[in-house]
Amino acid sequence: MNVSEIVEKVRTKQVSAQEILKSYLDRIDQKDFQIKAFLDLYDQQAIQDAQDIDDKVQKGQQVGPLAGVPIGIKDNLCIQGRLTTAGSKILSNWHSPYDATVIKKLRQAGAIIVGKTNLDEFAMGSSTENSAFGPTCNPHNLSKVPGGSSGGSAAAVAADMVPLALGSDTGGSIRQPASLCGVVGIKPTYGMVSRFGLIAFASSLDQIGPFGKTVQDAIMALEAISGSDPFDSTSLDQSPFHFEQGSNSVKGLRVGIVSELMDGIALDVKASVQKAISVLEQAGAKVDTVSIPSAPLGLSAYYLIAPAEASSNLSRYDGVRFGLRHQADDITTMYETTRGQGFGAEVKRRIMLGTYALSSGYYDAYYSKAQKIRTLIINDFAKAYDNFDVLISATSPTTAFDFDAKVDDPLSMYLSDVCTIPSNLAGHPAMSVPFGKGQDSMPIGIQVMAPALGEQVMLQVGLFLEQAANDIF
Ligand code: GLN
Repeated sequence: MNVSEIVEKVRTKQVSAQEILKSYLDRIDQKDFQIKAFLDLYDQQAIQDAQDIDDKVQKGQQVGPLAGVPIGIKDNLCIQGRLTTAGSKILSNWHSPYDATVIKKLRQAGAIIVGKTNLDEFAMGSSTENSAFGPTCNPHNLSKVPGGSSGGSAAAVAADMVPLALGSDTGGSIRQPASLCGVVGIKPTYGMVSRFGLIAFASSLDQIGPFGKTVQDAIMALEAISGSDPFDSTSLDQSPFHFEQGSNSVKGLRVGIVSELMDGIALDVKASVQKAISVLEQAGAKVDTVSIPSAPLGLSAYYLIAPAEASSNLSRYDGVRFGLRHQADDITTMYETTRGQGFGAEVKRRIMLGTYALSSGYYDAYYSKAQKIRTLIINDFAKAYDNFDVLISATSPTTAFDFDAKVDDPLSMYLSDVCTIPSNLAGHPAMSVPFGKGQDSMPIGIQVMAPALGEQVMLQVGLFLEQAANDIF
């Protein structure tokens, strides 16, 4: 059942929210001992929340646009009174004292929060192998990674354990796992969704967004969580996003293929992108290649800017105010052992890289140069959007890889993000839509990118590609 069918059935009393929830909880019970998408389940609370929705329906009261829809939440989003670990040992005992704005909005919309999903520690990674609580498996093949960092959310949706999930995307963490798990993932425009209550990784890049089985499902979640928020000064001053339904025709749309983002893409993935190009052309889109020379430089810039911001954001985990503390005789040793034992290897690597890039003497050579590249990317993409409505590329250079294939080689792991990072650096929306399978029968995703606040046209193209994929594959 898709999300609008669930809501319709719940509202018209054809099926109760409790029955819907039960079918998903049963599936979690059957599958999650193998997939391990969830870190925490709120089944009791969820049953109560579903009952509340059913009571309201019985009384003829208004219920929201996601009434009775179960949803999984990436565990870097705060839910009051609940463990919020960010996939890290350093927060393994931390209960959030407040709700993230997206959680409040989901509740207002009538969604049923089912539990917390696994992630790479502090959202740093592309495989969910960096979680302090063990990896999540790809539901299409349990010996492969689900992608990351929102691997738990993507896997939970792919395995039908929830119809919707939220993730966060700093350099691709919604789109890349969506691609590897064969589901839809949207990174909205920077500022479209409040990040109040999202555990910060790199604040100038972080954005919250939805996963769904279909584009329409993901749209419904995006509509529910978007909109300005006085608690997040970076949230845009505008009303919640509303998708104008209508045609998903791409006739006359100008679609650009970023030539630099076709380099280094696996042949089977490239073949899917080419297939997408040909169906777009057949449907009357004006497709052309466009060169954005700075696009591939995004990767290097990102791996300086994101660690720099992370090194600052993560300085709050000092064993003093909250989270893990390792007792020691003096405060410096307490800091050192708390952080030394609380953070995993990748997080430490980023803190060191970021601190180095910001240190005096190296700031100009690294951080400041990376910021210049960021500006170059913003300008180059702006130029491209003078001539194109949307840009497309592969979401990930490869399909899902085996466990342990890249953990010991950070650079090859980082390369997973080469296509997704530019949209974060520019603050633009981008999404991944499933489009065929690779040689290994694993899902492939196509990335659709649009300029800031270009969600409407991006989603239109997403709907078109989804329909085309259903027709072809
Ligand atoms: N894989 C990227 C990283 O490790 C992106 C992470 C993200 O988007 N949260 O930084």
